[in-house]
Amino acid sequence: MLEKIDYKLEGHCNKCGDCCRYLLCLEPFSKFDFKLMALLFPKYKRFKVIGEDYSGNLIIACNLIKEDGLCPDYEKRPGICRAYPNPKKIYSGGNLYRRCSYKLIPQKTFESYLKD
Ligand code: SF4
Ligand code: SF4
Repeated sequence: MLEKIDYKLEGHCNKCGDCCRYLLCLEPFSKFDFKLMALLFPKYKRFKVIGEDYSGNLIIACNLIKEDGLCPDYEKRPGICRAYPNPKKIYSGGNLYRRCSYKLIPQKTFESYLKD
């Protein structure tokens, strides 16, 4: 049912840079795996591991993000960067960053689903 809910993306980027500085990495599962992945897929070399969350998932950051929140490789940025903000994050329990100025607006309210 969750996947049937459409979200409309509203707002604009305020260039806070949080989505480039703190990325939760559900795969790979360890720092070693991450290094291996960067060897196999060079586009991941721009990211570095900066910590782990309470569940042990890696938190990574992009080495390229500038102080002003702009991406110096914007035209060639990886797919995960192009996809953000992705409404599908909601379906897997994710959300937007606190400082993100985008909003994901459900196109149908929970109450209207109950009525139907
Ligand atoms: S490549 Fe650009 S858009 Fe992607 S995380 Fe790095 S700075 Fe951000
Ligand atoms: S978190 Fe949102 S507002 Fe901040 S840089 Fe990313 S897209 Fe822009």
